[in-house]
Parts: sequence; structure tokens; C-alpha cells
Amino acid sequence: MKAVLFRAHGGPEVLEYTDFPTPEPKPGEALIRLHAAALNRMDVLVRKGWPGLKLELPHINGADGAGEIVAIDSPLPEGEGLGVRVGDRVVINANLGCGSCEFCLEGKDNLCANWHLLGETVRGTYAEYVAVSIKQLYKLPKDFDYHKAAAAALVYQTAWHSLVRRGNLQRDETVLIVGAGGGVNTASVQIAKYIGAQVIVVGSEAKKLQMAKSIGADILIDRSKETDWSKSVFLATNKRGVDVVVDNVGATFMQSLRTLRKGGRLLTVGNSAGPKFEIDNRYIFAKHLSILGSTMSTLGEFKEVMDLVINGKLQPTMDKTYPLQDAASAQERLWKHENFGKITLDIL
Ligand SMILES: [Zn+2]
Repeated sequence: MKAVLFRAHGGPEVLEYTDFPTPEPKPGEALIRLHAAALNRMDVLVRKGWPGLKLELPHINGADGAGEIVAIDSPLPEGEGLGVRVGDRVVINANLGCGSCEFCLEGKDNLCANWHLLGETVRGTYAEYVAVSIKQLYKLPKDFDYHKAAAAALVYQTAWHSLVRRGNLQRDETVLIVGAGGGVNTASVQIAKYIGAQVIVVGSEAKKLQMAKSIGADILIDRSKETDWSKSVFLATNKRGVDVVVDNVGATFMQSLRTLRKGGRLLTVGNSAGPKFEIDNRYIFAKHLSILGSTMSTLGEFKEVMDLVINGKLQPTMDKTYPLQDAASAQERLWKHENFGKITLDIL
């Protein structure tokens, strides 16, 4: 098969479009002929590598993908999994739980003790074929766009688990989303509006803020024009503070904590500005704040949120599509925050 792989960690130049053996599905797995893959910042982090990351090189990036099932090793018994068969059009859930630890058995597979993420430690979707467990597949209707499906899978399940399950976001609450363009943030705007919350978005580019408005954001704050945007958020809530903050930047945690009302919740699923920063603990206890982290979702939540995507209740924000062989340019666009919404790869 054709794939984009890397043989050593490094810059975009290590990505190579080349031939690679087509994977063989193991028991319980399906072989998918991919038509679309979607990018996530994690792809670039894996390509660059970090201390302790152990990959079997060459590695293939990509957590998100959609395509057609061309082979199944051994189908699941009736009633298990989401009932897929050869010929079905499917989208992949990249959250690879072991299925047998105490957390997986309780249906909390994103807490799996032996957790893997497709494209992170196992070869992913920047390829013509990928083999994944049948349990990880969600069946798409006949005319649903592969690119939209691939774009939705990781970010919607991540934002859904964070806002709905961890954050318990309620109708009529106010949520602040820090950052306007990323995939999880655009999904968060839409999910918060779907729930009925008021949404404030802080961003640094007027164009991206307007785009955030077009997908539902109620109040826009341009931080390039502010000396202290947390104050503007506070004023926008009539000095009450917001109920929930979505902060996947990290370095902005102190400003985010300042915007919260007493008893407010800060939700985080990542740290686009790096993993280490300082916070002042006095804000956390004196204001009764909760900091709630999570990653991905359970299989049940994945189905729940993908049903909303398929029914058009949540509309993936699409940025730009590149041919598979131009994955390096696509990653550069993502890494430099030039995108608004999801970048996808077209796999012919
Ligand atoms: Zn497990």
C-alpha cells in the first residue's frame, strides 16, 4: 500500500510517501480501505518525538480515518460492537482500550490500564489501509462524507467527554473557550451551543473570531487588543465570572482561573503551548475551583456524539484538504495554527 511514514523523529522533512506492507487484520479486527484521514496536533508531537516515546519505526501518523471495510478476521458475536460487516462505510474511533481491564469492563475504556491511541504508539491512518478492532468502528450512512466523518471522530468525542461527562455543562451556564481555531475548540463551541450554554471565545485573530461566531459563539474577545483578557471576560459576565472554562493552551491557566466564578470548573484535554506552567494555588481553594482533565471518551460516548454528527446536529468545521502525499504541508499548516477547524488528507 501507499503510506506516509517516518523512519526517524524530526521536522516535516522526515515524512516520506512510499510503499509499505498492507497490515493484516488480527482476530477481532477489520481491514479498512481508507479514503480520508484527519490531522491532530498529536500527529506532529509524535513525529517530533518526546523522551520515553517508544515506537516501532517506521511509524505511520494518524488517529482519525474513514473508509470502507474490505476484510474482517473474525466477526464479533451478535449484539457486540456496533454491528459492522465487509463493505460497510465506517469511521474509526482511535481510542484503543484493551477490553479486559477493570476500567474497560466498566465501560470506561478511556481509563484503560493498557491504553493506546491509534497513530500514537501503533501505526495510524496516513495510509491506504489500516487494521483496527471491529469495536472501534462506527457505521456511516451511504452518502455521509468520509472527510467530515474523519474530521469529527477524535475532536467531538474528546470535547463531548470533557464538556458533558467531566464538566457536566448545563443549559444556561456560561462557558469560556480559550482559543478560536483548533479542532477541539471548534467542536466545544458547537457542543456547548447544542447543550444550550452561552459561549464566550477568546482568540487572537479577528478572522478566526468571526468564524467562531459563525459556528455559534455568542461573545468574542480579541486578546490581541487587550492588556488582560480575563478582565474582559469578567466584565462580559457582569462581574459574575463564567461557570466553565475550556483551556487546552496551558500557559493561559492563570487567566482562565481568574475568569471563573466561585465553584467553577476548568476543563482541559491538552496544552498547545507546552506542558509546564505555574499556577497560584490560592485561586483553586479560595474560589472552590475544580480542574478536570480528560482524554478521548468511552465507546458509548463516541457512539452518542457520532449519532449527533450523522444527524447533522453537530457539523464538523472543515478547514482544508490535502492529497495524502502532501501530509508534510498539511502538518505545517496545523502546527502554525493557520487552520480554522479540521485539516484532512484525501486518500485515493
Ligand atoms: Zn482496558
